[in-house]
Amino acid sequence: MNLQTKKNQMQALVEQILIAVGEDPKRDGLLKTPERVEKSMKFLTSGYQVNIDELINGALYEESYNEMVIVKDIDVYSLCEHHLLPFFGKCHVAYLPSGKIIGLSKVPRLVDAFSRRLQVQERLTTQIAQCIDEALKPAGVAVVIEALHLCMSMRGVEKQSSFTTTSSMVGSFRDDARTRSEFLSLLNPAKPLT
Ligand code: ZN
Repeated sequence: MNLQTKKNQMQALVEQILIAVGEDPKRDGLLKTPERVEKSMKFLTSGYQVNIDELINGALYEESYNEMVIVKDIDVYSLCEHHLLPFFGKCHVAYLPSGKIIGLSKVPRLVDAFSRRLQVQERLTTQIAQCIDEALKPAGVAVVIEALHLCMSMRGVEKQSSFTTTSSMVGSFRDDARTRSEFLSLLNPAKPLT
């Protein structure tokens, strides 16, 4: 059977890219590259397939706890939608419950669901905050992402190791400077985040 007919569309396109950059897709090291790229691309964009409601709704609990909940240093790996290159770093999520809490393990899964898509860091940050805000109706939500963008560092656009920080503050984190500064001081006192 002709190898080409067995290949699906994404693999055929990757092969075209290999040819376009001047490579020989038939050489040993590249023979399975289209297959591997397809597999990793599907994983890195698997967030589109996640049912967010399903992910969250099974893990909401009525609870009178009303102090700040912080899940910090969540690993984030995403793909920038402008260059299809990775950006990665840490995500910190906090909320002030108002009757409901969410299972803690769901927070990193929520971050994964939104980051495994083609993204810009700003939108990713906002989506995570909005999602928690809608599901929990808390007194406030804060999301901070610090990430390194390979499209900047590899292409020499900016200083090679410059981190981009984005934040999304909702409710009391937006309106109350004390709540906001409590959150920021708990993140990483050594590194100023504004
Ligand atoms: Zn980019």
